[in-house]
Amino acid sequence: MVEDMTVLTVRRWIDAAISVDHPCVLCGAPSRGLCEACAQDLDRVEVATPAGLDQLVVLTGYADVGRELVRQVKLVGRRAPLVPIATALAGAVQTPIDAVVPIPSSRSGLRTRGWEPPAHLAALIARQLPGRPAVRTALVRRDRGTQHGQSRVHRLEGPDLRWQPGSRSIGARVLLVDDVMTTGSTLANAAATLRAHGVSDVRAVVIAAAP
Ligand SMILES: [Zn+2]
Repeated sequence: MVEDMTVLTVRRWIDAAISVDHPCVLCGAPSRGLCEACAQDLDRVEVATPAGLDQLVVLTGYADVGRELVRQVKLVGRRAPLVPIATALAGAVQTPIDAVVPIPSSRSGLRTRGWEPPAHLAALIARQLPGRPAVRTALVRRDRGTQHGQSRVHRLEGPDLRWQPGSRSIGARVLLVDDVMTTGSTLANAAATLRAHGVSDVRAVVIAAAP
């Protein structure tokens, strides 16, 4: 039931975002949260695809303009740019998808922000994929202590992402959604969990990736 409420909240927000013009979060120009010119300025980045993924789509490098874009969304809480970001990412996925699965936020991130950027982005992307696949919260996160208290080894291992108890089969082709990729261990862990539960094709989209 909690999931249904989340979907409704997300839908209301999406409708508001589409019907109202928002200034570009990077330059202030009238747009839908991110203007055409600033989108062109985003750094393209080449990163290795994490283990277990059939495809990785990255909108921008996590530096300069890309870092500021993520800061505006995650830390300032500007959600409007997620609409054009979703359009760009969904357009790059050239294969049928059965379910879209957001990477769950850490408990501390959720406490700080009060919302989960990957879950919102996943809902927007699912609406733009052929057949409008369902958004499924198939993964549950068990944090290995706090980020600051972690050793470098633990950070490289990434969070422990387990199959959500009670989740049914979600189909063979899954698209993972996250905001920032650093080492790629989070996506690799998620892919391993999904493959252990019958998913055979795992792809991922992220807003920004560290080069
Ligand atoms: Zn702009």
